[in-house]
Amino acid sequence: MSTGIRFDGVTVAYDGNVVLDTFDLTVEPGEVMALLGPSGSGKTTALRAVAGFVRPAAGRVLIGGDDVTGLPPHRRGIGMVVQQYALFPHLRVDANVAFGLKARRTPRDETAARVAEALEATGMTGYAKRYPRALSGGQQQRVAIARALAIRPGVLLLDEPLSALDARLRSGMLAELARLHRDLPDVTMLYVTHDQTEALTLADRVAVMDRARLRDCGTPRELYRRPRTGFTASFVGDANLLPVTVTGRGVRLGDTDLEVPTGDAAAGAPATLCLRPHLVGLGEGPPSGPNPGTNPRTESGPKPGTKPGTNVLRGTVAEVQWRGVTHRLGVDVAGHRVIADVRELRETPAPGTAITLHFAAADAVLLPAGEAGGAAHG
Ligand code: ADP
Repeated sequence: MSTGIRFDGVTVAYDGNVVLDTFDLTVEPGEVMALLGPSGSGKTTALRAVAGFVRPAAGRVLIGGDDVTGLPPHRRGIGMVVQQYALFPHLRVDANVAFGLKARRTPRDETAARVAEALEATGMTGYAKRYPRALSGGQQQRVAIARALAIRPGVLLLDEPLSALDARLRSGMLAELARLHRDLPDVTMLYVTHDQTEALTLADRVAVMDRARLRDCGTPRELYRRPRTGFTASFVGDANLLPVTVTGRGVRLGDTDLEVPTGDAAAGAPATLCLRPHLVGLGEGPPSGPNPGTNPRTESGPKPGTKPGTNVLRGTVAEVQWRGVTHRLGVDVAGHRVIADVRELRETPAPGTAITLHFAAADAVLLPAGEAGGAAHG
């Protein structure tokens, strides 16, 4: 039985301070939704509202279509995993995993079967008789996940479950959580993180939060390709956010006209042009070349030039960072810094060198004005 989650205008305040502001979000049954945002943006508060540990000042929380806003945590059918494992140090692994079942007065045989099943699901079968202190951080977190799963929750809440682990363990556990989701396709997961890699790797959809509000929500690919706000663009991947003016056929950056899709933006209006650094290339871009099927030896055919839809930016190299596979170039274009991540650069251009960059119209996204934040982050 799959169970979805719905936030319906949920507002939470501490001492009159609103930390979650009329939050609306639907998590489909069996879906993994990541709540992604900077520290203090209200992610944990949203999770705790589902768990029943905070009481909204307004709005409703629904689980499986039922309004649970007034229900105590243990009656919501949820499992929860937090950052600091929170295992009972004096109980062995199997007793830790059985804890929620005992509290629910589950019969002994069934408890044993469910503990075995949860340990199996998390790869911890061989550790049932150990105490938590004899386990690594990653193993302790697996036990915490097993404990949450033992009650067979419809909803699994995960609050920064990997942030106490070192980088190597984190990526291993990330792969395990992805496997767990494949093994348990009916369990709806809400996953709080400030780490975009975790969110993009694991989640079916990502809800981007900032300052108590939901800013954006979509599949990782949608958010990356078509962010709706500058905040999303720079929080999910890197972004150039350039202040431009909408023209009849595109936008104007300084004194350069660019051909980009403008949707229904009105000519003359200010806007923000979002360009991903790895989609900005060196030089004038691909030549239009002869038409396919024409004989390359004949002199006729279109004149060599830049392919339609390719925009050219001329500027001056301001900084160069070597990043292994790529060079990150900071280029000043019409008074704005444009970041380009360029592969296979044979010669590193010196600061002050005049340089030409290009990008495809289809790779540019126009965002509301006022979101320009200058250079990419990360
Ligand atoms: P996140 O999970 O995104 O880091 P939180 O939901 O934990 O953010 O916190 C959002 C805001 O609410 C923060 O400013 C935090 O200081 C505040 N806050 C969280 N819990 C409490 C509390 N129990 N009492 C007062 N303020 C709190």
